[in-house]
Amino acid sequence: MFIFKQVEQCKQYLNHQKNLGRTISFVPTMGALHQGHMALIRYAKTISDITVCSIFVNPTQFNDPNDLVAYPNTPVEDRRMLIHESCDVLFAPDVSQVYLEGEAAYQLDVDLGSLTQVLEGEHRPGHFEGMMQVVNRLLEIVEPNYLIMGDKDYQQKTIVDAMIDALKLNVELKTVPIVREADGLARSSRNVRISQEHREIAPKIYEILSGLKEDLLSGSDILESMKKSKNQLKQLGFNVEYLELVDGKDLTTISDIQWVQSAVLLIAAWLGDVRLIDKLTVK
Ligand code: AMP
Repeated sequence: MFIFKQVEQCKQYLNHQKNLGRTISFVPTMGALHQGHMALIRYAKTISDITVCSIFVNPTQFNDPNDLVAYPNTPVEDRRMLIHESCDVLFAPDVSQVYLEGEAAYQLDVDLGSLTQVLEGEHRPGHFEGMMQVVNRLLEIVEPNYLIMGDKDYQQKTIVDAMIDALKLNVELKTVPIVREADGLARSSRNVRISQEHREIAPKIYEILSGLKEDLLSGSDILESMKKSKNQLKQLGFNVEYLELVDGKDLTTISDIQWVQSAVLLIAAWLGDVRLIDKLTVK
């Protein structure tokens, strides 16, 4: 596996590969890699010749400075996992490489309306602006044929899809389903920060979402069912930021499941000082 820390070196190598006619898949990550990330790498390898993984903890998308400081960092293990999956390139730049001319120079002027304002956008102001900024910048560097993202960050991938459209970027977004622990907890870099006591409760998110899905599909009242699930989570010790049933395309709240083509449940909840998110497709 080639490891590049410099933008120019990475570009040079990839340009050479492109000149040889090779296709590129790109998997952007923030490191502390786990099997969720590896599913993205494995998928990337099935659709292109060269797989590039980036590890970059982007400061501009952290609305909470404590979250940035506490973000797990496991570079040696990350490299071992990527080599094990035969990833071709690791791009691991530092902040000054990514934002060569300062962060402000890479601010994006793209308005995606309510997509960036609701759910995560409401609770993490500035997060999506920073996320779009870094994804756009990394795409500019890597210029891949395919961009691979996880369904776990459902709003993120919906926004990136809309951003690609709005900016007319020449890349195809592909999504990979959520990888879960055996007990149902969605794998996340932040899971290592869950206390032992809370680790037993954490999978209840998936259990409760699954029960809620059944209720909704059997015709139960949406508001009542959502309220019941929120109460269950609260009683277990979760601090629920949001639990919403939304249209899978535009993320608007759904009040009648019958008339929509796709419906997804999205949740963000705190367990102690760890913020967990999850997603379940209902329809
Ligand atoms: P992160 O390092 O958390 O920024 O995630 C990098 C990419 O991996 C994003 O596209 C995530 O959606 C994806 N990802 C993270 N966890 C999972 C998971 N459990 N299953 C599938 N994809 C995931």
